[in-house]
Amino acid sequence: MKKGEHYMGVVERVDFPNKGIINIDGTVCVVKNVTPGQTVEFVVSKKREGKVEGRLFNVIKEAPNAIKSPCPHFGLCGGCNYLNMAYEDQLKLKETQVRRLLDRALEKQDAEWEFLGIKGSPKAYEYRNKMEFTFGDEYKDGPICLGMHKRGSFHDVVTVNECQLVDEDFRKILSLTLEYFKSLPYFHKLTHKGYLRHLLVRKATKTSEILVALVTTSQTPEGVDREFLNGWKDELLSSVGQNIVGVLNIINDSIADVVKADSTDILFGRDYINEEILGLNFKISTFSFFQTNSLGAEVLYETAREFIGDLSNNGVPEATVFDLYSGTGTIAQLMAPVAKKVIGVEIVKEAVEAAKENAELNGLHNCEFVADDVLVALDKIPERPDYIILDPPRDGINPKALRKIIDYNVDSLVYISCKPTSLVRDLEAFLLAGYVVKKVCLVDMFPNVPHIETVCLLSRKAPV
Ligand code: SAH
Repeated sequence: MKKGEHYMGVVERVDFPNKGIINIDGTVCVVKNVTPGQTVEFVVSKKREGKVEGRLFNVIKEAPNAIKSPCPHFGLCGGCNYLNMAYEDQLKLKETQVRRLLDRALEKQDAEWEFLGIKGSPKAYEYRNKMEFTFGDEYKDGPICLGMHKRGSFHDVVTVNECQLVDEDFRKILSLTLEYFKSLPYFHKLTHKGYLRHLLVRKATKTSEILVALVTTSQTPEGVDREFLNGWKDELLSSVGQNIVGVLNIINDSIADVVKADSTDILFGRDYINEEILGLNFKISTFSFFQTNSLGAEVLYETAREFIGDLSNNGVPEATVFDLYSGTGTIAQLMAPVAKKVIGVEIVKEAVEAAKENAELNGLHNCEFVADDVLVALDKIPERPDYIILDPPRDGINPKALRKIIDYNVDSLVYISCKPTSLVRDLEAFLLAGYVVKKVCLVDMFPNVPHIETVCLLSRKAPV
């Protein structure tokens, strides 16, 4: 097989996160953006040490169990991978992927472990509570678009006015905003010139509160003033209605392609929404980290809570719990009623401020939040934990921090992972240190895209 050659084959399986496996006369080829059972044509893009990578050229035949995508942007838009699979089949795929990784990682573990399968998201579509749309064009010098990056493209954007990851309000806000601003220049990533950058929308699932933020540079075009922006705000309020609690213009002149603020102009209302998770209230500001699937987060946190079980001593809360990588402190606050004290550690200061404020609002007085790197914070916290909950970012746990976590020698801990390949790497260290995996359950917080959450209960092996 040579670079540039075309081949045709059936996708045998898809490994996490997006590695389609196609066998061509005994050679394993890896092709992205395919689904199991599809017959595809691909172009060899890389060949090294017998490993072949290919780029999808054409889908010749859909898988026998394929469905028609409910979203017209599917394939062109870089947002979703599995819209042509029934949700049940997506769950089976993710379950198989993680099971495969775990089976390999736990081969050497001599103790039994329980695999509790996968729990689906309560909603397979329209489940996201936040979206960041980008202004750009679909091809060089084409008309202005507002939406997601095209699949595999760093520059091109496709207008996703029928996106199925979000509900009708998001779609309306997107269409209206694009129509209102379409004659203005968008910010070009290469020249750093232009005005329009992003449209950020947050909508709480439980309270329906909506926050809309237009992110621009300070290169304000002629004719754009407060009155012009108020015209957009008035259209939003009259067309989407009273669920909108805030409309903002965020100025961001940074070169990096991230949604952040140099300054914020509140055109209407306030700069946060309220959301409810398992009976607790959370104030989510423009940039706070919050799980993007509120109903899915409830399933995830319930699962973690079941794994942790009853920490009290005959109803008396005596345990000190560490919630490491605590974000806005959701898990810490859910554990607070059954713990003597919960200490959350989170590196983003704003998230820690939000966590403190939320704990206060929820009337929880036994939560403490530390704004620091877990690696550094563990040396400074005087308390020792009786129980540890870990919910690290995609890269998993820094090996030096992992060592410190292991050295606490707690009996049990729960590891919530948003990337199973990082989880299995970290599990190796836990197993070597004498922990065993007891139970694993998957929770799908991300229908139609490859991500998956894995909840894992680890315990110290009983001494023989
Ligand atoms: N448990 C939270 C958030 C989990 S996401 C929830 O369910 O909402 C992972 C979090 O880890 C993010 O908020 C990220 O900012 C934080 N983080 C990343 N690296 C970190 C580090 N080295 N030390 C502490 N926190 C970190």
